[in-house]
Amino acid sequence: MKLLLVEDSERLRGTLARGLRAEGFTVDVAADGVEATGYLSGFGYDLMILDLGLPRLDGIGVLRALPAGGERPRVLVLSARDQVGDRIDALNAGADDYLVKPFAFEEVLARLHALARRPAEVHADVLEYAGVRLDPQAHRAWASGGVAMNLTPREFALLELLLRHRGRVFARATILDRIAGSESEASDRSIEVLVFGLRRKLDDAGCANLIENRRGAGYLIP
Ligand code: CA
Repeated sequence: MKLLLVEDSERLRGTLARGLRAEGFTVDVAADGVEATGYLSGFGYDLMILDLGLPRLDGIGVLRALPAGGERPRVLVLSARDQVGDRIDALNAGADDYLVKPFAFEEVLARLHALARRPAEVHADVLEYAGVRLDPQAHRAWASGGVAMNLTPREFALLELLLRHRGRVFARATILDRIAGSESEASDRSIEVLVFGLRRKLDDAGCANLIENRRGAGYLIP
């Protein structure tokens, strides 16, 4: 596992780098955000440990500078900032996990291993097809011409599911399972209503006929 460690405290950087190398990680270190983006543009990493308070370019700036598509490291933010708003900012900017300082090294290791195991599809970037754009991390959707679409959480989840697996037919029961969650009172009928509502919003936004209905089988975006 190739890991980029971005931390401006020399002492913490040294301790973490030694510990991670002893655990078998290949570690590069960067002491500020600009140095980090230099490493990131030149080399591929599986993982990144990222401090938020950094000289020159802060951690949020480093996250924003990550490419929107293709290969990118999974990011564990290690920060002294312990407010919910800080976590949300970091996660919205593309972090995968967040650990507050001070921390136990064992927990850093456990979280890195969990991130390394996470399937790639969790790291989807912006999904784009037939004029529709969906940003799963920011939970925002746009229609043709960049017009923002106002989708409910379930409509968003359905559109994300169909876009992410284009060409695959999803039965109502599968959609129900993937979107509504096990303890919900949703039924096959409510999935029909959900699809109807989403289609209407897509039609209104100029993206008509995006979702197809295969009679007796389910729905898909071909
Ligand atoms: Ca710092």
